[in-house]
Amino acid sequence: MLNKQIPPAQLWLGNHELLIDRTTAYLQKQLCSTGCGVCRTCMQIRQQQHHAVIWICPEKGYTLAHIQEIHDRIVFALDSTERFFFVLQKADYLSTQCANSLLKSIEEPPSGYHFILCAQQLEPILPTIRSRCIINSFAHEAHNGSDALLTRYFYASSMPDPQEFAQAVQKAALSEQQAMLLVGELLTHWMQQYSTAVSKKNTQKTAIALQKVELIKQLYATPPMPGSSSLFLKQLFLQYYVGSTR
Ligand SMILES: [Zn+2]
Repeated sequence: MLNKQIPPAQLWLGNHELLIDRTTAYLQKQLCSTGCGVCRTCMQIRQQQHHAVIWICPEKGYTLAHIQEIHDRIVFALDSTERFFFVLQKADYLSTQCANSLLKSIEEPPSGYHFILCAQQLEPILPTIRSRCIINSFAHEAHNGSDALLTRYFYASSMPDPQEFAQAVQKAALSEQQAMLLVGELLTHWMQQYSTAVSKKNTQKTAIALQKVELIKQLYATPPMPGSSSLFLKQLFLQYYVGSTR
């Protein structure tokens, strides 16, 4: 799995949430032999806790300290079989100063180190950065898959009609893998809600987000059996809304 050529630096463009998903899936493919999405490695990547990935997502723009973190890490040589990834989740927020500090690292990182820069748009990215990256646009890819039709039932402020949800599940006919993808998206969403709530010191929202994260993690540990994705999703729905009011 490690003999594949991975570009030292990639610039991915598109919707922020979508890119987190795509990056997660990509890293899972690189770091888990099959990119299964459910093993410990894949789970850690999804939770942004894998030891070989540093996600850098500043609240208010990057500082030189963020870039220094990268410099400090890449002085350590990796084994020939090791891979290490830096994900700059909001590369469009890089100041000129930060971008310049980053240039040399992304141009010729030491063997095994790779960069993924995510940005909503290409325009704010300095040409010097652009020219050093393999650019991949996901901009045309809106969240409009069949799983996205179901996703909206989970972002409602109050519980949607279960009957209506059940019908949507029937219609979407997700595979087990697609069902897990949806669960993964929800986990990403609530982990972000959680960190935002913590940084804003909103204890109520922190508690809600934490509860959701924990519920979703449990589901992650018990993925649907073949042929049971509909049942799995309906259980998710009930636990998600009914379970959380307890
Ligand atoms: Zn895996």
